[in-house]
Amino acid sequence: MIEVTNINELLVADLIDELTSAKKDKKMCYCDVCVTDIMTITLNNLKPRYVASPLTETFFKPSATKKEQANLIRAVFENAVQKVKKSPRH
Ligand SMILES: [Zn+2]
Repeated sequence: MIEVTNINELLVADLIDELTSAKKDKKMCYCDVCVTDIMTITLNNLKPRYVASPLTETFFKPSATKKEQANLIRAVFENAVQKVKKSPRH
């Protein structure tokens, strides 16, 4: 069987990278526990989108639908960030 990948997982990982390299919010904790929580909360609030690997470049080509999807992921991600910021698990 060809390996399948949840594309949302990759997209959320990119947002996590962005978040942890910028560390814009001084009141926010960026430890592994919090960052992992943000990742899992975001993914649990999104429908998985599996694609067969290897990923093709065409998948990432911009289109209106993909832009909407990207905006949705970002919105769900921001909610998760706020949730973890308010009540970190430590
Ligand atoms: Zn933390």
